[in-house]
Amino acid sequence: MAGVSQLHASTLDPSIGIKPDIRDLALDELESIVREAGERAFRARQIMGWLWNRGAESFEAMLDLPTAFREELNHRFRIGSIASAHVARSSDGTRKLLLRLGDGEDIESVIIPTEGRTTLCISSQAGCAMGCGFCATARMGLHRNLAAGEILGQLMAARRELDPGEILTNYVFMGMGEPLANYPRLHRALTIMTADWGLGISPRRITVSTVGLVPSMDRLLADFPVNLAVSLHATTDEVRNRIAPINLRYPLRVLLDACEALPIARRRRITFEYVMLAGVNDSIDDARRLAKMLAPLRAKVNLIFFNPFPESPFAPSSRERVDGFQAILHRGNLTATIRESRGRDIAAACGQLYAERNRPAAAPR
Ligand code: SAH
Repeated sequence: MAGVSQLHASTLDPSIGIKPDIRDLALDELESIVREAGERAFRARQIMGWLWNRGAESFEAMLDLPTAFREELNHRFRIGSIASAHVARSSDGTRKLLLRLGDGEDIESVIIPTEGRTTLCISSQAGCAMGCGFCATARMGLHRNLAAGEILGQLMAARRELDPGEILTNYVFMGMGEPLANYPRLHRALTIMTADWGLGISPRRITVSTVGLVPSMDRLLADFPVNLAVSLHATTDEVRNRIAPINLRYPLRVLLDACEALPIARRRRITFEYVMLAGVNDSIDDARRLAKMLAPLRAKVNLIFFNPFPESPFAPSSRERVDGFQAILHRGNLTATIRESRGRDIAAACGQLYAERNRPAAAPR
């Protein structure tokens, strides 16, 4: 069946080609391939070193492999790489990359420098099916899942855009898409990201942000000791149903019970993201309810200034509102930080750059 669907994909879009991307493979898979080809297993680690450590973009570059074997690899695989279609640089140093995938889909990644760290914001899907009312990506709907090689390709592309001496220190899955709705490929990407034969990144430096797909939250944390961020955004089901419709499937109580039950909740604190929408979820009562709801979790709250986009039905809460909200959370003994809006001048909020560059010319209604 896999062969059939591959063939189908390539018929639809010749640019994909039928050769699989070697950057999608985990070490054990590559080892079997290497052995089948009559080579010794250690060659797999050598190839991984070329791919992830040295960023090789061709098999010819892998000089310590036998020539015939390099040719065979080239015959069977491609080395996926993503070109930057557009890079926007904000006056605050934030760089937003619009990346073009093999089939013409565009995705976004953002490099965000803050004191002492440089964070890469990674996309997990082209578009998103979650339908959150305040999110520009939601307007696109889901185009498709990203392959592991495409998730990691963003990291390789971002490295090319770094300033001299600058290195990526943290990774957040807060770009386009719902990472837990693409779990098998996220799992593969995290395996390669954290493995010693891969990118060797500590899972503590990785944060996966989810709108709250409860069953996959458990799986994720059982599989990787990464940080978890949950997009909460409301303190009543009535409001959350409206702005984050996944709440109809996993209502607040179910979501919070699941968070409390996560084994990690006792050791490491979950971050709850809360986009402040004027007159929607930013009242004093909301702040009090939030403090009470999260008290058993010893959670961290990240208050986010809403980044408006054309035709968005919401407005950001005022600075005073956000500060007041934070003060109430502090009084309730919660750690609450305010995420300053970064890269405003380059439309750096989720899905905005995509929307700007793909806006249809006055579509008839
Ligand atoms: N689907 C995942 C990850 C992608 S969204 C999730 O829901 O968590 C990453 C974060 O950006 C989420 O907290 C989301 O609520 C927030 N976000 C989306 N659109 C925004 C906007 N216009 N302004 C501010 N934050 C936004």
